[in-house]
Amino acid sequence: MTETVLISPSRYVQGKGVMGQLGHHLARIGSKPLLVADDVVWGIVGDGVTEALGQADLPVARESFGTFATAAAVDHLVEVIGSGGHDVIVGIGGGSAIDAAKSAGHLAKIRWASVPTAASSDAPTSALAVIYTEEGEFVEYRFFPHNPDLVLIDTQVVASAPARFLVAGIGDALATWLEARATQRGQGSTMAGGRPTHTGTALARLSWELLWGNALEALDAVRAGVVTPALEAVVEANTLLSGLGFESGGLAAAHAIHNGLTAAPQTHGLTHGQKVNLGSTTQLVLEGAPSEELEDFIVFTTRVGLPNTLTEVGLSPDDTAELRAVAEAATVPDETIHTMPFPVTADLVVDALVAVEGISRRVRSEHGLPEPELYVARH
Ligand SMILES: [Zn+2]
Repeated sequence: MTETVLISPSRYVQGKGVMGQLGHHLARIGSKPLLVADDVVWGIVGDGVTEALGQADLPVARESFGTFATAAAVDHLVEVIGSGGHDVIVGIGGGSAIDAAKSAGHLAKIRWASVPTAASSDAPTSALAVIYTEEGEFVEYRFFPHNPDLVLIDTQVVASAPARFLVAGIGDALATWLEARATQRGQGSTMAGGRPTHTGTALARLSWELLWGNALEALDAVRAGVVTPALEAVVEANTLLSGLGFESGGLAAAHAIHNGLTAAPQTHGLTHGQKVNLGSTTQLVLEGAPSEELEDFIVFTTRVGLPNTLTEVGLSPDDTAELRAVAEAATVPDETIHTMPFPVTADLVVDALVAVEGISRRVRSEHGLPEPELYVARH
């Protein structure tokens, strides 16, 4: 029997100023929320969130948060939920705070909501979380029996956040179609636990189309701190469509290579979307994509400001040991790279990673685009 499966959050709310409605939407799912936000995020949205919850007669309890969704951070939140008697946990901020909130909500058997303050990844809508070490190395995916009960994203908050967050989200979302397409071509299943529906694959494609049509203008809007239709389209592509598209359309090589890259200390400090974009570029090489498609992707992502060379993630084609380690990590038996429609070995991944450097440098030079700059991780 072949099952096709699509899963999604119960309610998705997006728009300029919708943070003011957070209490109204939260009151449908709980009466004693625990908010999870780091001090920087709380400094930006704390007053607005407090007012919104007050309007719905909801108490405000906030727990701070570190950098990564580690197993220890999740266990701590579970304790706070238990001692405070909370019935809904709300992850506010970037992907890590949201993933930690989801994981803790699941373990504590309460409901959970995602309130991203930037459109920097497609983590908020999904029924899974990615657990990292304190240093940001990939540890595992954790899968939950349902998606968030609420995803709320205020596009004015997104417009006020640094543009590099939106760049990261675009990198994460561009991978969605490439990986869903590969999953559809192969025999693999998706993170939702079955073969992709036509719907899931189509949503991944719509995300791609909205990004090609709006990404550069959306970045202009964020740099000016304003909300435009292009920004609204990209926020929806990065958050909702990419979220549904990756989860129910399928992950493949790009995210597996991202996970492999996290093992190289040189890449630490880069965003998820930056590393994913090198994964997407490598996937296109690995699958022998038509040269026009590969070149268009390199030109577009260079204009967006995403890395498409080893240099930009702190590596070089001469880093034989590091590239081997990345490729080995990307091809462990349960990685999503094996949903590609052909067998993928670590050897093939090393060759594709090395090839990417020369191809991207040539394409960028032919289009008058800047040479890649070496990324140096801070330690
Ligand atoms: Zn991702």
